[in-house]
This record gives sequence, structure tokens and C-alpha cells, in this order.
Amino acid sequence: MSGKKNHEFRGAMNCDVAVVGGGPSGLQTARLLASGGLRVVLLEAKPAVGADVICTGIVGREIFSEFDLPDGSVLRDLRSMTIIGPAGRPLAYEHPSPFARVVDRARFDRDLGETAAAAGADLRTGTRVVSAEVTNDGVRLRTQGPDGEPGSISGSVLVLATGIQNHLQKELGLSAPESYLSGIQWETTAGPEMAPSLYVGKEVAPGAFGWAIPTEEGRMKVGLITDRDPREPFRRLLRIFRPGGVPPQEGDIRIKPISQGLAPRTSAPRVLVVGEAAGQVKTTTGGGIAFGLLGARVASDVILKAFRTGGPTAAAFAEYDRLWRAVLEREILVGSYVRRAFAVLDDERIEKLLDVARSDGVIPLIRAKGHFDWHSGLIVDLLRKAPVFRIFREVGLPPASLKKFWS
Ligand SMILES: Cc1cc2nc3c(=O)[nH]c(=O)nc-3n(C[C@H](O)[C@H](O)[C@H](O)COP(=O)(O)OP(=O)(O)OC[C@H]3O[C@@H](n4cnc5c(N)ncnc54)[C@H](O)[C@@H]3O)c2cc1C
Repeated sequence: MSGKKNHEFRGAMNCDVAVVGGGPSGLQTARLLASGGLRVVLLEAKPAVGADVICTGIVGREIFSEFDLPDGSVLRDLRSMTIIGPAGRPLAYEHPSPFARVVDRARFDRDLGETAAAAGADLRTGTRVVSAEVTNDGVRLRTQGPDGEPGSISGSVLVLATGIQNHLQKELGLSAPESYLSGIQWETTAGPEMAPSLYVGKEVAPGAFGWAIPTEEGRMKVGLITDRDPREPFRRLLRIFRPGGVPPQEGDIRIKPISQGLAPRTSAPRVLVVGEAAGQVKTTTGGGIAFGLLGARVASDVILKAFRTGGPTAAAFAEYDRLWRAVLEREILVGSYVRRAFAVLDDERIEKLLDVARSDGVIPLIRAKGHFDWHSGLIVDLLRKAPVFRIFREVGLPPASLKKFWS
């Protein structure tokens, strides 16, 4: 951080970068920026990092080395998955090696918070940012502390990593993700023989899929994603999955939106939007941890470079949109097409698709090419298989705008 002018300017501010949101995306951004020598303040509305998270906690195995993450939160490896179709017939899939890990998501966030704090980031929990103002000289945030007391923070740059809450980015003229699905989940007891399972079909997960995933000894998470109110499909899923079982109490069920699709504009002079707030979420599964960490890496590279060179100019920050889209756009758009096309399939066609998977060389292709986080290559290869293509063609071909990804 050289240059006298830059130093004087920095000295007048509370921090170089204010990060709003203490989920994985904000914490990793804060950590990387603090490691790069910037003064970082992270503001999180919840009373503690990791408090009250709603997530199944499945992540690709590679993210721990890829993003240099502590792995004390890992509960188990996943190597197999049973897919249950609308007719109730299981399709068992086993990968050649473990393809994912289930983490204790609260601990995952807490561990990441500790690494961010160890790198020098100042983590302030219980602090909600109520409004943000950006001027030519910097950013000013109005905050509300744990007891509602007002406060303010000034900085040179603002990173919004606020997850599904998007009022600050809208206030600053930036956009929110294209749309949202609904996630619903219940954490409960599981028998020792419980196999990780996915559920598809109009009854149990209209528009997406359901799951039952063992987490730690004797526990599991059962939930679903859908494009409508999830409560009734969830009741149906429970009837199929655990007939006669004790139903959850109302308060045990957690519901949360999941972003679907790119946010068209995620940078403005002095401001970047990162993680789920930017739509950096897999549109196939709703998983947002890995893409959020990737977004954090791109954002921190852009910010650190800007501080080293001409400052947080509009041009330097506009580069962020281009850079993260270069990595994630194909995944998000191709995934979105296939999720929407799948949502239109009736149960008969979903069963047909599962039959194709049972018989037509689809499983070997998934074994060879499947990756927990990167789906578009496999999707394109699967759609090249005539029986799969025929089923999807009946409900709508990929739009012309996706042609560039089909090569
Ligand atoms: C049921 C369900 C299951 C899921 N399972 C998985 C899974 O298995 N794997 C996976 O990868 N993803 C999963 N996801 C998605 C994943 O949880 C999110 O994509 C991920 O948490 C996004 O991380 P983030 O850091 O961008 O946002 P978040 O984790 O949502 O963090 C944003 C933080 O910002 C804070 N905040 C917001 N506004 C303000 C403000 N104004 N001031 C201060 N703080 C603020 C919030 O309190 C929050 O802590 C699941 C989601 C759901 C709903």
C-alpha cells in the first residue's frame, strides 16, 4: 500500500474495507484482504458467526485445499447416493471415490471466522448495517448494535456479502440475483443404516429435489428445494420417506430462500457484491459455499490490486464482474436451463430419465466426468446422449443464448 496520498486518505477512515455479512463468502473475503495487509472490518447482524445457519453442509472435497480452509468441521465423507424417483424405485449410485464431505456448517463458519480474525480482520457481530452511502471519497455505513444502538463505520471500499438479504445492494443501484427458490430442512434422528438419498418427482420436490443426508452419528438432515411454498411438498416427502414417523414440530422446520441465477450487476465504484448476494450459487443444486469462496477470491484479488495501483476506481472494480463471470457464468446459466427444463418434466418423463440412467451408459459417464461443483460439462455430455436429449426436447430445447456453451 504505497503512496503518500493513499496513506493520508486511509488514515481518515475506520477501515480500508468494510465487509457486510459473516457467512463463508464475507469471512473468506475479509480473511484474504486482511492477509493482504488491508484494514478490514466485518459486520455481521447475528450475535455470533455461525449462529442460526440453515444449510445441509455438503461441500466438494477439494474446497479445503483449494481455499486453504480448516477442516475440523468435517463430519463425514460422501461416496454414494440413492436417487428415489416418483415411482419409489431406487437408483443406487456409487462414485469411484468420496466426492463430497458433510460439514457442521456452524463450525465451518466459526473456523473460517477464526482464520479471518487471525489474519487481522476485525469481526463485529451483533451489528446490522441499516444503510450505506457511497461518495467520491469513500463509503459510510449506518449500523445498529446488539441493543439497537446506532453507530457508523467509514471505509474506502464496501463488500456486500449479505446472502439472500439484498436491500443494501438495491439501495446502491446494484442488482439482486434473477430469482429465488425455497429451501426447507429438518434436522432429526437417523437409524444406523441410513443411506444418503435424493428424491425427485412432482409430489415431493416440484421444480427441484429433496434429500435425506446422514450427518453425524444418529443424525440426519432431510429437506427439499422447490419453486413454490415448500411446506406441503415437505409433508409429502416425509410421508414417503418416513411413513408413520413422528412429524416435526412447527419450530423444528427451517425455511430459507436460495438464489437462482446471476445478479446482472455486482460492482460499482468502491462496491463489490460477493457470494449468494451476487448469485454465486449452483443453479442445479442450490449449493452456494464453493462458488461464494470463489467469488471471495476474485473480489479480494481485485481490491488488493486496486489498493496497490490507482485505488478503487470504477474501471478497476468493473473488472470484477467480468472476472467472476468468466469462471462461473457457464455453470450458472447451463445449470439454470437444465433445472428449469427438469421442473417441467412430468413424473412419467422423470421415471424415463431414471430408466435411461439405469440402462444407457449414463452412470459410467457420471463416474468418469461427474464433479461435485462443476456440472455444465457433464450436463452438455448427457444432453448429447440421444435418449436424454429426446426427453428434454419434449419440454423445450436449450435457448439459443446457451449455444456458445454447447461446443
Ligand atoms: C436448506 C438449505 C440447504 C443448503 N445446503 C447447502 C449445501 O449443502 N451446500 C452448499 O454449498 N450450500 C447449501 N445451501 C446454500 C448455502 O447455505 C448458501 O449459499 C451460503 O450460505 C451462502 O453464503 P454467503 O456467505 O454468500 O451468505 P450467507 O451464508 O447467507 O451469509 C450472509 C450473512 O450476512 C448477514 N447479513 C445480511 N444482511 C446484513 C446486514 N445488513 N448487516 C449485517 N449482516 C448482514 C447475514 O446475517 C448472514 O450471516 C443451502 C441453503 C439452504 C436454504
